[in-house]
Amino acid sequence: MAENSPVPDSADLLMALSVIEDSLLTGLALNRPGSEILAALGEGGAGQGPASHAQGGQESAPASADLAGLEARAGACTACRLASTRQHVVFGEGVAKPLVLVVGEGPGAEEDSQGLPFVGASGKLLDRMLASIGLSRRENCYIANIVKCRPPGNREPNPDEKASCMPYLREQIRLLAPRAILCAGRTAAQTLLDTTEGINRLRSRSHLYGDIPLVATYHPSALLRDETLKRPAWEDLKSLRDILAGSGGKA
Ligand code: SF4
Repeated sequence: MAENSPVPDSADLLMALSVIEDSLLTGLALNRPGSEILAALGEGGAGQGPASHAQGGQESAPASADLAGLEARAGACTACRLASTRQHVVFGEGVAKPLVLVVGEGPGAEEDSQGLPFVGASGKLLDRMLASIGLSRRENCYIANIVKCRPPGNREPNPDEKASCMPYLREQIRLLAPRAILCAGRTAAQTLLDTTEGINRLRSRSHLYGDIPLVATYHPSALLRDETLKRPAWEDLKSLRDILAGSGGKA
């Protein structure tokens, strides 16, 4: 969660969801449902087992020994000061070889408590956003953060903390080999793109992380605070969908 997010009330969450659902209903440039697009890609998700932290208390099934080994190393990591205040190392959650790797800033209080990324209100909104273009952390996405341990008080991670933790994310990206990366919020986009540009500029154009297309958008908690961001966030999701469908994205 993080990105300085207060806990939104349920009315805000419902409003955010309704905007996305309205966009779907009005067919805002979504000519085909996400499930059709993914089926056309031959990537409907069936058979892509969970890579880590299956939801609902199920046993996790690591995608590979390498990823499991990386998670074990992160679980014992004390490379930065965040180790001293965490409850859990939040390594990530999703499937092996995902279509999309979603990257957020860092765990919030609920994520730290549960050991899972993007839970609570902003996590539910993220799941609905992904579902609007046929994506799911259970079937074809993986979700991780720039830092694996919670910064106290939901503050932004310090530069040295991000630098200490980024080797884990870089290795996750190498092992997961996603088709595209979706950065949720300024911190994730700035860190992966090694820039100080603001999120409004970063989300206005397409990027590459290595040879992987990268789309930057607002953090779900920002959408819950400011409903004017929901429409542009929907445009970002459409760009991601277009990239997955092989028709580009933003210029
Ligand atoms: S935030 Fe990252 S580098 Fe710091 S202790 Fe946690 S896993 Fe290690």
